[in-house]
Amino acid sequence: MMQQVLDRQFTVGWSIEKGRRRTNEDSVAAINLDLISGDTVRTLGIFAVADGMGGGDHGEIASRVAVNSTIRGLIEQLTDMQEDTAKVYLQGLERAVQVANQIVYSQNSEIDSEMGTTLVVALVVGNQVYIANVGDSRAYLLTNIGITRITQDHTLAAALVRQGTISAAQARNHPFRNILSQGIGLSKSLEVDTFRREFEDDGYLLLCSDGLTAELKDAQIHNIVLSARSPQHACDLLAEAANRAGGRDNISVILIHLRRS
Ligand code: CA
Repeated sequence: MMQQVLDRQFTVGWSIEKGRRRTNEDSVAAINLDLISGDTVRTLGIFAVADGMGGGDHGEIASRVAVNSTIRGLIEQLTDMQEDTAKVYLQGLERAVQVANQIVYSQNSEIDSEMGTTLVVALVVGNQVYIANVGDSRAYLLTNIGITRITQDHTLAAALVRQGTISAAQARNHPFRNILSQGIGLSKSLEVDTFRREFEDDGYLLLCSDGLTAELKDAQIHNIVLSARSPQHACDLLAEAANRAGGRDNISVILIHLRRS
């Protein structure tokens, strides 16, 4: 007998736009899984956005390798999981990101490159959202009344904001805004930020690269999401608005809407 079938469902939209750049170095992934073991079914969603850098086609490789290896690692751990707790999910996420870092880092020494990437990954289990982040791609939660950023940027400008040296508004145009204080593949060890949040009914989770957030303010993103007919329509509108505002970088967005089925 199938027990614990979750009565929640999510709808997902996404968009990957080059903007005015010649190439796309971002990678995104969205996976919907039903894990069946014994008489239980767990419905899971795994979502990731990575924004690569490194000259030539290396940025694209770094972001793709990071996304793929994180997802592979996570699925492997989820299928072996003995207990269904927040701690286990968060540890699983962190481990998968650490392994992705080792893989990109060792590819750098093999091919003598300096590629790296940001990575924000979300694991959605029922109304629980688990997130791991490295770099300046972001995760937001949105409801009808507001937008809340979950992740902290790992940039030198964001570090100056945390120290109180500059304001958040100044950070938007600061010369250090694009300089990562840490990224996947750039160093052997890494501090992965992890977060646990709860989805509100009718709420949204947004993952994006900085090509979106450099062009649009949080309030604009919120307005666009609420005005859209569906998550896919919202992603199309967000990419269009970021392009119109300048489109100076690749724009990647995944939007997950949680609704009662
Ligand atoms: Ca970027």
